[in-house]
This record gives sequence, C-alpha cells and structure tokens, in this order.
Amino acid sequence: MDRKGDGKMELKRRDFLRVAALAAGGAAFLGRPADALASPDLSGWPDRAGMLTDLTECVGCRTCESACNAANGLPAPDVPFDEKSVFDRKRRPTASAYTVVNRYEAKGSANPVYRKVQCNHCEEPSCAAACPVRAYTKTPEGPVLYDKDVCFGCRYCMVACPFYAPAYDYESALEPRVVKCTMCHGRIRAGGIPACAGSCPVGAITFGKRKELLKIARDRIRRFPDRYVEQVYGEYEAGGTGWLYLSGVPFPQLDFPDNLPKKPIVENTKGFLSAVPLVFTLWPALLGLCYAANGNKEEKG
Ligand code: SF4
Ligand code: SF4
Repeated sequence: MDRKGDGKMELKRRDFLRVAALAAGGAAFLGRPADALASPDLSGWPDRAGMLTDLTECVGCRTCESACNAANGLPAPDVPFDEKSVFDRKRRPTASAYTVVNRYEAKGSANPVYRKVQCNHCEEPSCAAACPVRAYTKTPEGPVLYDKDVCFGCRYCMVACPFYAPAYDYESALEPRVVKCTMCHGRIRAGGIPACAGSCPVGAITFGKRKELLKIARDRIRRFPDRYVEQVYGEYEAGGTGWLYLSGVPFPQLDFPDNLPKKPIVENTKGFLSAVPLVFTLWPALLGLCYAANGNKEEKG
C-alpha cells in the first residue's frame, strides 16, 4: 500500500517522530530506566477469537466494507460500494472506512486477487506498547480495542502499527480520536459474529477461535497444495495476529509486510518505550508541541 498516499499522515508522522526523538533524548539525559509495557500473558485466554480471510475465495464485491460501515454507523463512501474504479488505487483504512478491499494483478494468478485490509488484532500489539497513556487493550475475547477517552492524540500508535491500520479522525479536532476495526467486539460478546464475516456472500471470511482457525487454514493448505502458498499469514508475523490469511500467491505480492519479526514487535520497542516516563514528566511541553505541530499542519493542509 502507498503509505505516502495520505499526505497529512506523512507530515504528522514526521512531527511525532520529532517529538519522540526529543522525549527519547531527554530520557537519556535524565538517565530514566527503560519501562517497557509488559507483554500480555495470553495463555489464560486460549479461546480468544480470530478471523481467517481466504484470499482465494474473495471476489472483491466489497459487501464486507458495506456491512462494516452499517455496523459502525459510518457514512456512505465517496465511491459507491458497487463502483469498481475504486480499485484503481490502493487504499488504507480511514476514519470513515475501517476496512477496505484492494485489488492486485498478481504474478501466477490468472485472475485479480482481492485483499481485505483492517486492523489485524495482533496477539501482542505494538500500538498498545507505543501508546503512552495505554489507550489500547488486548481483550480476552481477542479484539484489540482503543479507548478514545484517554487518548490525547499523539498518534504514536499509528507510527508503531506494522500494518498501518489505525486511522485518525481529522474531523474531531477538539476531541482527538484514532479509529480502527474493533472486530465487532460488542457483537462477539453478545454471542454474534463480526459484520464482515456475516455478510461475505462467498464465505471468504471465517470467524472463530484463533487456534481453530489455524487448524482450518493448515488443513486447507494440506488438502489443496496447488491452490495455496504454504503460509498462514499472521500465524507468526509480529508475534502472531488475530486476523489470519490464506493466499494463492506469495503474500509480498499483495503488499503484506514480509520483513516482520516472529517475535512481538513489543520486544523490540524497549528503547522507544524508555521515553514513556518522560512523556509524563514533560507532559505540558510535549502536549504543547503536539498541538502546535498539528495546528501548523492543519492550517497548511
Ligand atoms: S494491526 Fe496495528 S492497530 Fe491493529 S492491533 Fe496490530 S498494531 Fe494494533
Ligand atoms: S464480502 Fe467477501 S467476497 Fe466480498 S469483498 Fe469482502 S471478503 Fe471479498
């Protein structure tokens, strides 16, 4: 995906990285100890939910996008859900579309391949590790949730996410708000299934316990070796994700990051997180910098 497609995002990414560098430098100056967020112990949640998207089944109808918008009360899109020109460019989730489907002309595939994109609900989410105020939570049910009431809009989570999943709601200037897929957590808790999985007309999205989905995915690969590449994306990437994928073409051809460590990214961010105590120490100054940087960009943007 074109990470630079959102100019505002790139400008802000630089601003916040600058703030992060300032904080990290200050932390080093003050000799603060590293204070990384502890990785959650998932062993107590063996039945946590996941999703399996089989990209060999997806026909690019965007019914899942439509169902997601309806379930989350999001506005109608600029380009109607049945308009195919939307596939002329690669999209990423936004404040008004928590999931998007992109089309790829992949080598070795006679037909276009469609990839649904959303938060992957990492097992040990780097968004949660990067957030100075712990606005993110990995729930026992599986979804990774975000609490807008504690968020102050620094957007470290957007920088930290390896899948570029969180989006920023620019309409909420006075109430900073990051938005992303919740895996329909409320529906899951009520015994239902996520809207996208329930709507897919071809059954490309399966909801279930992550451990069971892994078995299903491995079984499909075993039974149909000519149909699938021998990888369940998300089984190990970035320490594992709740959202898993099967594909008939190599994942990098579909813009899946192929350089992610198997260990949770959380374990690689201890240096970054050493700045966290300082964020609180220098809270007013940092907050001022954040808003000053934002204000300038909003005016220019
Ligand atoms: S995909 Fe990104 S936003 Fe979603 S849980 Fe993982 S790190 Fe967080
Ligand atoms: S509803 Fe199913 S087939 Fe249609 S775009 Fe979404 S995942 Fe693909």
